[in-house]
Amino acid sequence: MTHDHEVRHLSDIDRRKLLELSALAIGGAALSALFPLSKSEAATLVKLPGFSSFANSVKVFKSGKYYMVESNGIPDHQMMVGIKAWQQQVPTVQPYTGTNAWPIPITPVISKTPISAKNHFLRGAIAIAINGVPIFNALTNKGTDAYLTGELDDWGGHCGRADDYHYHMAPFHLQALVGKKVPLAYALDGFPIYGETELDGKPAVGLDEFNGHFDSKKKYHYHGTKTYPYINGGFKGVVKEVDGQVDPQAATK
Ligand SMILES: [Zn+2]
Ligand SMILES: [Zn+2]
Repeated sequence: MTHDHEVRHLSDIDRRKLLELSALAIGGAALSALFPLSKSEAATLVKLPGFSSFANSVKVFKSGKYYMVESNGIPDHQMMVGIKAWQQQVPTVQPYTGTNAWPIPITPVISKTPISAKNHFLRGAIAIAINGVPIFNALTNKGTDAYLTGELDDWGGHCGRADDYHYHMAPFHLQALVGKKVPLAYALDGFPIYGETELDGKPAVGLDEFNGHFDSKKKYHYHGTKTYPYINGGFKGVVKEVDGQVDPQAATK
């Protein structure tokens, strides 16, 4: 990440603050002329089930065939508490905005050749939680189960080498905030990931190797589980893998 980019990011934040303050003071009418909106701000914000519960910190807009999910990657809960394996990273704000937001296909497509996450996608995210925190493969880039090896905090997350906070499990703790009827996350193939139960409260049954199945209307979705694969164990939907990760996806600092 160049110095250039950081400067632009900061000024973006400053401008947004100024916009908010000015809007409070004199009303928003004449402001758009003074402060032209950036592409992402000008695009209509979209309400997607789950993300809309975190509308203060997570924004979703449409760009081409993707929903773009913007966040700074920092959740509204403590982090790094309860990790048993030693590690030295510190959660840091990430630039998941604009063209570097998290892309989710608007229209997921079932793949003719679904790919397991057992030996693929060991780098980068495979899903994005509704609080704007990316979710990585349950297996680390060494191929080990991050939960069983004590590498995760009490929320199922930790930091990567770029001090980027991410989960390796379904964020069940978010259900205390949003209930059990909205997705906890969206896989990067576009299919939603629910908790352990269906919308009617019954336990999810008949899950395939990717932790998913079709509902009565033939719509596919995933579930989080308390055992492997914990989240989507790969992709039933179409994704592209480049250098061992889903492409496109947001980049860290
Ligand atoms: Zn990790
Ligand atoms: Zn289900």
